[in-house]
Amino acid sequence: MRRRGSTLLGLLLAAAMLVVLPHSAATAPLSARVVEQLRDQVVTTALPRPLVVVRALGPVAPDRLRATCRSLLRTYPVRCEIRPGRDLLPAWSAWNVDRAQLDARAALDVLFRDRDGEALVELNLTGVDIYEVDKPYVFGLASLTDRIALVSLSRIDDDGGKRLGRRLHKLVLHEVGHALGLHHHDDPSCVMRQDPTTEALDSAPERPCAACHTRLEEQAVRLSRTGQLALDRTRGHLVRGEHDDARLVLAETLHAGEFDAELLRAFATAFFEARQYNEAISVLRFVVKNDPTAAEAHVDLGLCYQMRGREGDHERAIEHLELALELRPDWELVERHLDELL
Ligand SMILES: [Zn+2]
Ligand SMILES: [Zn+2]
Repeated sequence: MRRRGSTLLGLLLAAAMLVVLPHSAATAPLSARVVEQLRDQVVTTALPRPLVVVRALGPVAPDRLRATCRSLLRTYPVRCEIRPGRDLLPAWSAWNVDRAQLDARAALDVLFRDRDGEALVELNLTGVDIYEVDKPYVFGLASLTDRIALVSLSRIDDDGGKRLGRRLHKLVLHEVGHALGLHHHDDPSCVMRQDPTTEALDSAPERPCAACHTRLEEQAVRLSRTGQLALDRTRGHLVRGEHDDARLVLAETLHAGEFDAELLRAFATAFFEARQYNEAISVLRFVVKNDPTAAEAHVDLGLCYQMRGREGDHERAIEHLELALELRPDWELVERHLDELL
C-alpha cells in the first residue's frame, strides 16, 4: 500500500515541480527566440557561474590539479579554483587493508564532513587506487546529492604524458558532469558514456554531446541561485539521517533571507523525502502565506499533511488540494488524487 501511495505522491510531486516551466514556455511561443537569446545572455554574463573547487586527497602533482581546472573551464560553464588539499589519514576509515584500495563511496562520505563551504561542486584528485563494491576498481565516483566527486590517477597514470592528460580530462568532465546533475548517456559522442577500461577511455569523446551540454548550461544557471549551497547541504544531512543538522541549515537560510519560493519548495521536498513532515509543513505554510495563489505549494502542503496523518491532517490535506484545484481547475492529477482522498 505504502509503495503505491508513495509512487503516486512522487508523480504528483514531480508534476508540481515541473509545472512552472512548461507553462511559461507554452505561453510565449512568439518570443521564443528572444527568450533563447536572453537565456544565452544570462548564462554568459548576468549570473555567476557555479564554483567547482579542486583539491588533492593525498599527494598529487600540482600540474594535475591545474590541468583539471583548465579542462573544466574550457568545457563547462563553471568557475574553478584549486584549494588546499587533504591528508589521506582522515580517510583511513575508507581504506580497505585487504584490497589495498580506498572504498570510493566511503571516501565520498568522509569528504562530505569536511566539504568546502563555498564550492557548489568539490572535485578531489587522488593518487591511490579506488574501488566500488563488486567492482575491481573505478576511475572515479561522484555523489549527485553531495556534489562531491573523486577521481583516481592510479590506473590512468601508467604511461605519463599525453595519454594521461587526455584520460584525466575525460574523467574530470564525466565525474563533474554527474555532480552537476548529468546521468550516464550511452551515446558514442558523449563524455557521459561509461568507459570502464583504459582502452575504452582512450577512445572516449572529449566533450559532452550537445543535449548533455545544453542540460549542463541550464543546470549551471539553476545551481547558481542564492541558497542552493544550503539546500545541497541540507539534503546531504537528511540522507544521512542528521535531521538536527538539516534543521539548523534551514533555520540559518530562513534567518538570512536567502531564498525564493522555488528554493523553499525544494527544501520542503527534501524534508518530505526524509519523512520530516513537520519541517516540510512549516516551510510550505510560510510559502502559501506569502503567496496564497501558489498552487504547486498548496499541492505539496496537502501531500505533507496526508503523509503526516495526525488528527485533522486528512481534512487539511483535502483543503489544500482543493485550493490548488481552484487556482488551476485543469490540473487532472490533483483532481484524481483528491477523488481518492474524499
Ligand atoms: Zn559515471
Ligand atoms: Zn550526452
